[in-house]
Order: sequence, then structure tokens, then C-alpha cells
Amino acid sequence: MIARPVLAANWKMNLGPHEARAFIAAFAARSPEQRGTTVIICPPDVSLDAARDAVSGRADIHLGAQNIFWEDKGAYTGETSAPLARATGAEFVLVGHSERRHVFGETDEETGRKCVAAARAGLTPILCVGETLAEREAGETERVVLRQLHAGLRGLTPAQVAGSLVAYEPVWAIGTGRTATPDDASTTHRALRAAVGGVLGAADRDVPILYGGSVNTANAAALLAAPGVDGLLVGGASLDPVSWASIVAAGAARAAHR
Ligand code: PEP
Repeated sequence: MIARPVLAANWKMNLGPHEARAFIAAFAARSPEQRGTTVIICPPDVSLDAARDAVSGRADIHLGAQNIFWEDKGAYTGETSAPLARATGAEFVLVGHSERRHVFGETDEETGRKCVAAARAGLTPILCVGETLAEREAGETERVVLRQLHAGLRGLTPAQVAGSLVAYEPVWAIGTGRTATPDDASTTHRALRAAVGGVLGAADRDVPILYGGSVNTANAAALLAAPGVDGLLVGGASLDPVSWASIVAAGAARAAHR
């Protein structure tokens, strides 16, 4: 079973190979190897290889891709397949990140195909779900995230669902400086966990569910302490090795109290 809390960094379209190497060296120097946590860094594809070299020897630091295409190979210019991401050192992949859904128009159906492709290649999908501000204000949070959850996971076998991760990332909280309160995160995580049990046929409800959306060094500990929050997915604050090391330290402190 994956050690939790899980601390996942999404670098988005930042940090090329040289910067990735320098970041990981600086982070690793500040953050001693942890047994009770899982650290996942998702660099841009072009930096995966350099990041793989940089993390070698650190069993607690894993790599993820930020996106994949659902076909394994072929004439799909500009895309990265799951086997290619795997070959470049990724063990995880973000699927359905809000920027994929809302900037690039990725549909629920496409997230489902990507999760299937990821699992087929031995990549662990981190399925991202989250409501927009308008959906939240209309009282539709649960309906939206459960729809996204089902669409993303329904093509997987129960064992593959059990091996996946989910990230609840309210769209209005990503990169905005607004975070869900720990109580709000817990409420939505509870609904997601119950639904994962449904998708799985109640075989295993223990899929890690991460929270993401303007997490920083000041709010990480409170969010990690919220019931049902198994980890964090962090964008902006993961781009600085000092603040990322501090968020990972909050995760290690949380692990020590479990
Ligand atoms: C993200 O990119 O998944 C994210 C949560 O970004 P930020 O932490 O910057 O809101």
C-alpha cells in the first residue's frame, strides 16, 4: 500500500531539465528520506529524464507525468503515450487536471480513456476532479465531482481502481490563493470515498484522496489534518524547493502522528 500522506508536486509548464536537476538537489538536501510519506514530482515531460537521474537513490521520491494520450503509439504529433511516459521514469500520471479540462477542453470520456491507457502501461493514474465556482454556488459540487469520478474510473478493473489515486481540486481554488476549508475538503472527500467504494463494488474504499488548490506552507498542515485528506497536490508552492520541502515536512509530521 502506498505510504501516506502523499505529497504530489505539479510543476505545470515550468522547470526544464537543468532547473529540474537543480531543484531536486536543493529539495533533497533539505528533505531527508522519509519512510512514512510518498513524494511525487510531476515535471514537464521534457524534464522527466533529468528528474529520474536526480532522484536516483531516493526511494521516497517518485515521478509522474502531467498528462498522457490514450493511444500507445502512432501518428499523434505532440502527444506522449503512457508507455513513453513510463519509459522516461514516470510511475504516476495526472489525468483530468482542471487545466486539461478547462484550457484544453478535455472531456470526462477522454479522462476515462486516459486512465485505462495509464493502467495498461503500469502507470498509476491520479484522477483530478473538481467543480467550478459557478457549480459550487449552484450547490452542484458533489454531483460534478462524482460524475467526473465515475467517468474517469469506470473503464478500470476493481483492482486497478484500488491502485489509483484521486485528487479533489476545486477549480476556483487552483492558482487563485483561495483554498477550500479543511471542513469543506473533508465533506467532498467523504462523498468521493463512498463513491469509490461504489465504483469498486465495495471491494476496497481505501484509495488515497488528495486535496489540491492553493496549498502553501501556511495551510498545508491544517489541510493534512482534515479527516479523509490523504495528501496534497500542489502547483505554485511546489516550484520553490524551500517551500516544497516545508510542505513535505508537514506531511512527515502528519505521518508521525497517525
Ligand atoms: C495544481 O496545479 O494542481 C494546483 C493545485 O495548483 P496551485 O497549488 O497553484 O493552486
